[in-house]
Amino acid sequence: MQSPLDTPLLIATANPHKLEEIGAIFATRRVSVEGLDALDLSIDEPVEDRCDFEGNARLKAAYYARATGRICLADDSGLEVDALGGEPGVISARYAGARGPRARVDLANNAKMVERLRDVPEDQRTARFVCVMVLADAARTWAQVRGTVEGRILLEPRGTNGFGYDPHFFLPELGRTTAELEPEHKNRISHRADACQRMLDALKRLGIGRPCET
Ligand code: IMP
Repeated sequence: MQSPLDTPLLIATANPHKLEEIGAIFATRRVSVEGLDALDLSIDEPVEDRCDFEGNARLKAAYYARATGRICLADDSGLEVDALGGEPGVISARYAGARGPRARVDLANNAKMVERLRDVPEDQRTARFVCVMVLADAARTWAQVRGTVEGRILLEPRGTNGFGYDPHFFLPELGRTTAELEPEHKNRISHRADACQRMLDALKRLGIGRPCET
């Protein structure tokens, strides 16, 4: 297997915030990363049509590995609400089918979720953010991990940080929604952070990267 120590590990995202978050955690094992924007290639996005996060993350990792000839790490994330049978799940980003600026899409998604939960008592509105990460080359999947953070859905939004479902995602042990946390705090406890740590453990088992000396 090509060592990501020789070249940065390719992360299948064009989102600079995601790249920075993943890069900061991976730097602790001296694995440097780069995103799709760093490549001098124009690659169409694949259609994410699988029925679970694992399927979509595998599809993206294999697709970009084939398109670039590199080992590639891809993720798929979203919200699972137990009382909604796991919805919005893989369609978290497009739950309400709204189009336009991100803020408008987020508001429509949240409104649809709240409407469906209106008659569900708070203690039954359990939910989790999920992030599945997959490391693959063109021939095979090398590692697959699932990170989560557990919470409860509030019917009224609270907080202005974050994005997506954050204003409704309440962390009982902190007494705040993820939209009420400072970004650094959310990044430490998030489903993405959990998945990154699990992926780092997998990289260690594969002999990729090495611990920082300090
Ligand atoms: P993505 O796969 O990271 O782009 O996430 C897909 C969708 O899941 C987003 O558009 C959001 O609706 C939702 N989501 C994922 N992560 C978060 C989060 O940390 N906070 C709030 N919503 C999230």
